[in-house]
Amino acid sequence: MTIDIITVHPPLLESPFSHSILKRAVEKKLVEVNVIDLRDYGIDRHKQVDDYAFGGGAGMVMMIEPIMNCINDLKAKRRYDEIIYMTPDGETLKQKHCNHFSTLENIIVLCGHYKGIDERLREHVITKEISIGDYVLSGGELPAAVMCDAIIRLIPGVLGDETSALTDSFQDNLLSPPVYTRPADYNGWKVPDILLSGHAKNIEEWRHQQSLERTKLRRPDLL
Ligand code: SAH
Repeated sequence: MTIDIITVHPPLLESPFSHSILKRAVEKKLVEVNVIDLRDYGIDRHKQVDDYAFGGGAGMVMMIEPIMNCINDLKAKRRYDEIIYMTPDGETLKQKHCNHFSTLENIIVLCGHYKGIDERLREHVITKEISIGDYVLSGGELPAAVMCDAIIRLIPGVLGDETSALTDSFQDNLLSPPVYTRPADYNGWKVPDILLSGHAKNIEEWRHQQSLERTKLRRPDLL
């Protein structure tokens, strides 16, 4: 899978892909992440990428031309399944989006800034609009990193234990059961006996029961 991320602040996207699981995914070539500096497509000497809003009002708007030139350049190299714009008024990112995106070949992720991008881009070239929640951040870079992390960890081979992504919260609309590790007794705080029983089938049933109860209690909307 190739993920091309368009941004005016490339350094904001360096760290998320240079550590831990995402770093290994890139090294193993399970995903290629390219961070493209929109400034390279800026207009004139000043490499301008934004301008005042028609009709007035505070805040700059990202211009069509630099973004179109950048996207057209990318499209000359590969065919894209989705061109995703990160925006607070998009569809709220859910596990089902991530599952779907992780099966795609090539995607572009566009990070907005200032007041956002010229609406005509949203009408004509953006194929999907995604929000990471009902709050406003100053730019699309952190939302893009959040979404890409959630996608990349689902690509086969990225997580060490292939099944582990399937037992995470939200797959099957259930929250994860509680987990424990050594010591089995920390100053009287004990691990549930069943987990020490060695009885795989009972443990599996217990975990499923815990998942159900936790979901009923915390997120009944999922059931
Ligand atoms: N004026 C816009 C907010 C712009 S915030 C509005 O009120 O809807 C600047 C940029 O940050 C956006 O273009 C978007 O790319 C990004 N952004 C901010 N909050 C976001 C969120 N919750 N989800 C996804 N992207 C977000």
